[in-house]
Amino acid sequence: MKHEIGKIIKEKNSFLVVTHKNPDGDAIGSSFALYNVLKELGKTVYLEIPTKPAYIYDFLDDYNAVEITTNSKDVEVVIALDSAEMHRCGLDKEYVKDKLLINIDHHKTNPGFGNINLIEPEAAAVGCIVYDILKSNGLPITKKTAEYLYLSILTDTGSFRYSSTSPKTFKVAAELLEKGVEPWYIASNVYEREKPETYKLLSLTLDTLELHLSGKLALLYTTQDMFKRTNTTADNTESFVNFARSIRGVEVGVFLREDEPNVFKISIRSRGSVDVSEVAARFEGGGHKNAAGGTLRAPFKEAKQKIIDAFSFLK
Ligand code: 5GP
Ligand code: MN
Repeated sequence: MKHEIGKIIKEKNSFLVVTHKNPDGDAIGSSFALYNVLKELGKTVYLEIPTKPAYIYDFLDDYNAVEITTNSKDVEVVIALDSAEMHRCGLDKEYVKDKLLINIDHHKTNPGFGNINLIEPEAAAVGCIVYDILKSNGLPITKKTAEYLYLSILTDTGSFRYSSTSPKTFKVAAELLEKGVEPWYIASNVYEREKPETYKLLSLTLDTLELHLSGKLALLYTTQDMFKRTNTTADNTESFVNFARSIRGVEVGVFLREDEPNVFKISIRSRGSVDVSEVAARFEGGGHKNAAGGTLRAPFKEAKQKIIDAFSFLK
């Protein structure tokens, strides 16, 4: 399969690279890497995402190359990365009908919506899969490509802390360092360039902390009013859910973000054996065992109770 994809990369001339809305570091790193490789090979290539990447990624060279999804680019090949479902990366069935669609992902729930599907649930990040494709096909991995792949792995393993981290993860990271990646440069840009107002918003958000189910479930939320008071937006909440999970005794951390009145984007994180993707699937979402997300449409109190009920098995 990897050779088939390598052959297409070498032989075809025009590509569209896409990834999921509200892209995280893995979505951005893996898609920017493939976009950059194709550009360096002299191909016609576009990069489209349904929503603009968060500001923490604006240090990346290709940040401004991202276009908001149009479903109109005239290309031979469309490559979707890190997208558990086709609608998450904004692709229309009608648009992809006459194109070769390659689906590269690590979500175990991915239904295989492409003509070619490379789904590796054991991969710590989609960046690892892209790295394997490039390496096994002798495609060039320049310093810039290596930086994008490293970003993908660094962020999706929580800085090499999550259970998805394996010897292979470190091997790939080491090989990327040999291509010129400086870990401090990526880490300091991603993690140490926060906007001051984010901390104002975080302060209001941390004040909402509630523990339930004998301290095994932690909840945090941000309201529209808090955004207004601190002059912030959803972009400023990227890492908030981690504060819920990182409390002693907590097995599941949930962050609710009020996007519209009575509409909450939920982020769920667990550690250890609790599989949160199944709970997220009940809330219009999905994801991985230890990191998932979804949407809850209900007044706040009701939304909160639905989450507590869904995790009552923790008790
Ligand atoms: P986050 O909480 O950072 O938004 O999402 C964590 C992970 O959960 C994402 O990387 C993605 O795998 C998954 N995820 C989040 N929201 C959704 C959703 O609405 N649908 C699906 N299928 N997966 C989601
Ligand atoms: Mn992702």
